[in-house]
Amino acid sequence: MFWPQTPRKEPRLLHWRRSQKKRACCEIWLMGIDVDPKYGGTGASFFSSILVIEELAKVDPSVSVLCDIHNTLITSLFQGLGTEEQKETYLPRLCKDTVGSFCLSEAGAGSDAFSLKTTAQKHKDYYVINGSKMWISNSEQAGVFLVMANADLSAGYRGITCFIVPKETEGFHIGKKEDKLGLRASSTCGLTFDNVKVPESNILGKLGHGYKYAIGMLNEGRIGIAAQMVGLAQGCFDNTIPYTKQRLQFGKRIFDFQGMQHQISHVATQLEAARLLTYNAARLKEAGRPFKKEACMAKYFASELAGMTTSKCLEWMGGVGFTKDYPIEKYYRDAKIGTIYEGTSNIQLSTIAKFIDQEY
Ligand SMILES: Cc1cc2nc3c(=O)[nH]c(=O)nc-3n(C[C@H](O)[C@H](O)[C@H](O)COP(=O)(O)OP(=O)(O)OC[C@H]3O[C@@H](n4cnc5c(N)ncnc54)[C@H](O)[C@@H]3O)c2cc1C
Repeated sequence: MFWPQTPRKEPRLLHWRRSQKKRACCEIWLMGIDVDPKYGGTGASFFSSILVIEELAKVDPSVSVLCDIHNTLITSLFQGLGTEEQKETYLPRLCKDTVGSFCLSEAGAGSDAFSLKTTAQKHKDYYVINGSKMWISNSEQAGVFLVMANADLSAGYRGITCFIVPKETEGFHIGKKEDKLGLRASSTCGLTFDNVKVPESNILGKLGHGYKYAIGMLNEGRIGIAAQMVGLAQGCFDNTIPYTKQRLQFGKRIFDFQGMQHQISHVATQLEAARLLTYNAARLKEAGRPFKKEACMAKYFASELAGMTTSKCLEWMGGVGFTKDYPIEKYYRDAKIGTIYEGTSNIQLSTIAKFIDQEY
């Protein structure tokens, strides 16, 4: 019979309910990291957001993604594109007690996001939104939704416009929560828009520029997901190595077998490389230099690394790694999403190839 040699030490955060996690993020100033203090933000840098996302993911990747989307997509869009009135209305709430959701994907528009079918039809000084969205993170907790809808179908993707839709708007419905493999503490729901009336003043940025904003934000967001994956992999590694130093087989610590040491050193090196790719992309973005290729590389590499790290850690733990007595299986399940959202690994590779094509 096997007795675990390391008692399970699960961080308190994992047991909190979603509403508690949201409140905690607000209370410790993690919801407006790079927002100007005059709107209630912390006034820190984009790089600081990346460090926060990484640190949170070491403990719970679901809390990390809530903070990631909120900071790298939602508050960034408001701060960068909002009118003074929009900033004064929404940013203080977003920094204090309101979560935001970014709504681009639809059932028929995933990797090909700009084939979206949600429409916004103009009537006098307001728009009427009809359609549906899928896979929207944070949607169960969110109070404000940034919705990409086409306001001019004849213009194709150049009709896509970003609308601010408050949760309580009539005709707006949040669907059932998806039953997912991982990130189970992060709500992911479908949304429907049934004649949702929003004033023209709820357009964020310019009419027909939504596709540009979505591309721009996802480029930044990818650095956030890379940071989430680095943190997740580090958290899993940190929870595993002490076990390998306690567990004895053949009269030795399993850490002392060369076959184990080579694998552990390989993963540790890849983890450091992923972190440096991520920090480099964040540094370039912050310096106003081109960073899109580097963001794709960081997200691609960090997602693959997180998959490899969590799989290896699970193996190094032997049978107990496969049980829910330890958090390793959770990191393993949570890691998979890195290769899917904010552009799949294939999409990252295709984008990197476009840059290489231009460079040579
Ligand atoms: C947990 C979760 C949270 C999410 N949160 C959000 C959110 O908050 N907001 C939001 O708008 N969306 C969100 N998404 C949606 C997410 O961004 C999409 O799932 C993702 O872009 C992939 O789209 P898809 O699922 O339709 O897959 P598809 O686009 O159908 O892709 C399926 C497969 O085909 C491959 N493929 C597709 N096109 C190409 C191509 N041109 N070349 C090579 N391979 C290709 C893909 O790489 C993939 O392997 C979320 C998704 C999940 C699962």
